[in-house]
Amino acid sequence: MPDILEEVLKFLPEKKISISCFEGANIVLYTKDKEFFLDNKGAIKEIVDSIKKRVELRADPSIITDVEKAEAKIKELVDKEAGLSKVTFDPQRAIVILEVEKPGLAIGREGEILKEIKKETLWVPVVRRTPPIRSTVIESIRHVLYENNDYRRKFLNKVGQRIYGGWIREKKHEWIRLTFLGAGRQVGRSCLFLQTPESRVLLDCGVDVAADEDERYPFLDAPEFDIKELDAVILTHPHIDHSGLIPFLYRMGYKGPLYCTAPTRDIAALLALDFIGVTFKQARKALFSSSDIKEMVKHTICLDYEEVTDVTPDVRVTLYPAGHTIGSSLVHLHIGNGLHNLVYSGDFKFLRSRLLEKASAMFPRLETLIIESTYGAKEDTLPPREECEKEMIAIINETIERNGKVLLPTLGVGRAQENMLIIERCMREGLIKQVPVYVQGLVWDITAIHTAYPDFLNLFIRKNIFHRDENPFLSPIFKRVGSQTEQQEVINGGPCIVIATSGMLQGGASLEYFKHFADNPKNSMIFTSYQGKGSLGQRVKGGEKEILMDSEVVKVAMEVHAIDGLSAHAGRGELLRYLYEVEPKPKKVIINHGESTKCLELASTIHKLNGVETVAPRNLEAVRIK
Ligand code: ZN
Repeated sequence: MPDILEEVLKFLPEKKISISCFEGANIVLYTKDKEFFLDNKGAIKEIVDSIKKRVELRADPSIITDVEKAEAKIKELVDKEAGLSKVTFDPQRAIVILEVEKPGLAIGREGEILKEIKKETLWVPVVRRTPPIRSTVIESIRHVLYENNDYRRKFLNKVGQRIYGGWIREKKHEWIRLTFLGAGRQVGRSCLFLQTPESRVLLDCGVDVAADEDERYPFLDAPEFDIKELDAVILTHPHIDHSGLIPFLYRMGYKGPLYCTAPTRDIAALLALDFIGVTFKQARKALFSSSDIKEMVKHTICLDYEEVTDVTPDVRVTLYPAGHTIGSSLVHLHIGNGLHNLVYSGDFKFLRSRLLEKASAMFPRLETLIIESTYGAKEDTLPPREECEKEMIAIINETIERNGKVLLPTLGVGRAQENMLIIERCMREGLIKQVPVYVQGLVWDITAIHTAYPDFLNLFIRKNIFHRDENPFLSPIFKRVGSQTEQQEVINGGPCIVIATSGMLQGGASLEYFKHFADNPKNSMIFTSYQGKGSLGQRVKGGEKEILMDSEVVKVAMEVHAIDGLSAHAGRGELLRYLYEVEPKPKKVIINHGESTKCLELASTIHKLNGVETVAPRNLEAVRIK
């Protein structure tokens, strides 16, 4: 038994605990003593205060009320208004999951209803929100986790054994090293490999969809990387250039944990499924199948923002809001028991958007900051968002006025929902004429996931949802386009706004709409996402008027606009302001995730303005951090 469990048991009277085990970094204790389970008289709090780890006490499975009786009791106790739709029991962990429409009502004031359920049934109730827009992805993820309860319990215990079981590698010196397996002086295939004498951790593992085959994937063949030695993967957000290759890791035999927030897990699974479809359409070989995505889901450990968790004996992770997509995170790593503190920004936004709060800039400790530089060059100062919104409104109005259609090719996550919020508000306030807003199937499904996690949205939307029961995503102006027939109806129909992926016209429904809308000068296309090097989007944005597609020439007569200021990435000004505001000040700044010149320009400016060491590594270069 690892020392920490023995240490925990010493705090408690003998024979009170029947089982002690791990769920990841959390310690779970089971007791057969009903009185002790319902009132441990502060004993558990004392342990938590002393060992500074999360400890949960549950009833031993042998004493809990049987499932049928417990379900009847729960239905009796939970307010009808709460909309209880499903009760799922996990008998080995003595946990019961309640899926409800209104979690607040099911929890009760100060958790009184949950306390009552616990007292009456001895099960530990966990409340989950039923998304108001049905999400088959969330349903299947919940099903996969339920189906694999037993595996999951053993897996989480194994993760705990690794964290608390003592060092497995020899330590002669203290050092920390970071290798860029991707995203070094480029946007796409983000993948950073962190090594300490004890740990091997991957930060993101993405695919560059706009690149040729030999430059699409991170350098997993780098000599220092061995998948068999990998301890953990941490994912900042679900965009394919950060998450796209993670299912492949599981295909290659990785069986360790993936850490991210719950919305990131759900959207990453959905995008991975979509990615298989897109790959298939492009007649490429898919690198993984849906069963590998299932493996990814089975091994994911969801973290909330600011929840501190050990991932190995010498690496502790905390996620903070990044303001880029729902659940997107800055990753704070506390390494070697305080030896060094590192923040990896992933993609981030340092302004509050219509969808999200801005990125956090306050950390307990910070020595090295790894920052993105998508808009890091001098010319990348983004115009104010208000101006950009006005520009978008004007283009939409002019297009509709002349009976045209507006195509918004967008990233399905973040950008699309931000655009939906802008359009919904403008139509509600009468700034845009009422026309149908067609939301392509994938975007719709991702939006449904947004409705399951309102706690991750910005304060304004949260207030509207929780206090006024007004959810902008449920507005009747939005119409889902699922089938080919529905898509054809939109193409043949009248003035409208179409929101579809991909953002760079690299496959996806946006490409189909583009083919049909392009030759009509009445139509408009508005790019609001980053256009990758070599992507079709970049070519059209650059002014190409004849595009060869499927051996057919497509003439571009429609208006083409690009509004960069609505980007979900920090512009040059925000990046510099972040360095100015971040607390504490880092001693070293590593720049990645930007085209070469942007990385170098930003590195040079940050060095001059802040007097800190900066470096912009190329792919395969390693930086010794300590
Ligand atoms: Zn991103």
